[in-house]
Amino acid sequence: MDSSEEPTPGRQADTPEPSAAPPVALAGVPEPPQAPPVAQLPAVPRTDDPLAAPNPPGWPSPPYPPTLTWAPLPRKQSRENNPFVVVGVLALVLLLVLGVGMVGTLTTEVEGVASAAPATATSTTSSAPAAPRRSLKLEDNPLLKPGKSLAASTCTLPQFGRSTAQLEAYFAAEIRCLDEAWRPVLQSVNLPFEPTRLTMDGEAGGCKAGTDTSERPTAFYCGADNRLHMPVDSVLEDTGGIPSVMIGVLAHEYGHHVQDLSGVLAAESRREFQAGRDSAAGNELSRRLELQANCFAGMFLASVAGRGSITKATATNGAASFAEGGAEQTHGSPAHQGRWAEVGYKDNNTASCNTWVAPPGDVS
Ligand SMILES: [Zn+2]
Repeated sequence: MDSSEEPTPGRQADTPEPSAAPPVALAGVPEPPQAPPVAQLPAVPRTDDPLAAPNPPGWPSPPYPPTLTWAPLPRKQSRENNPFVVVGVLALVLLLVLGVGMVGTLTTEVEGVASAAPATATSTTSSAPAAPRRSLKLEDNPLLKPGKSLAASTCTLPQFGRSTAQLEAYFAAEIRCLDEAWRPVLQSVNLPFEPTRLTMDGEAGGCKAGTDTSERPTAFYCGADNRLHMPVDSVLEDTGGIPSVMIGVLAHEYGHHVQDLSGVLAAESRREFQAGRDSAAGNELSRRLELQANCFAGMFLASVAGRGSITKATATNGAASFAEGGAEQTHGSPAHQGRWAEVGYKDNNTASCNTWVAPPGDVS
């Protein structure tokens, strides 16, 4: 494969960064997780997870006082650090290669057993179902088949606290909830599933890189190392330390993990690479990817709303917070960021999150 030229799925997704600091300071301080050399991707500031922001019309008021002491920042985003994408793509290619290799290995083992076993065993082997595998499709990815919703579930989180240990326990618990919520959906359409891991040290991990330090995302997903990066400092600063906003940010990043598992991340990376990272077409692809992650985050929030540790107010506030960020070429306008999270929240259906077929005017 000519994977050497492909962007990798290791993208970081990013999250918005609301912060307690003056908006101005934020706007100018983006520090992207460094991106890999590849980068032609400009680090974009993303706004996804706005803090508790004014709720869009129709949304319930956030449980938190509207008068936030911190001003929502224009978030910078990270996902987009395109360099990561390249790394991710490479990682994806490796995974695909390994996957193929594993299939071959399994087949070999089965055959070996069969040779020593009754004929019936052999026949059984030949009828084994196809192993789950990613699909490098966007608009018609299996993940987006009609009727795929997240089952209502109870997400129990530990007591919230701002120490690193407390936040780590809090996020890790939410990730377990996200794993349980998404696994059935992926498996139902024969897409692979594997848990992702949490990293809070602020390092870029497998998506490290770059030279561009002008921006730093609040958080990001790195496909290259299959980790959700939630740096303590940036997360606390950009979310104002508001639990519902953090829950939304993490759910968005996990949305990128779902895109990674389904093949959407790699497919988008490839298409964006072909279109040109900084081109208008490339940015639109990025927005469709980011807005879909917002939609997936909304789905999760809806599935756990009103049960366990996530009250309905927390869930709706978390979803509404997506409209609080600043406009970004790679993430979309605040209104659209909020709208797609709302679509996911209200519909709880992956097909409704098919941003790939949405009119350009809905993903600007
Ligand atoms: Zn993102």
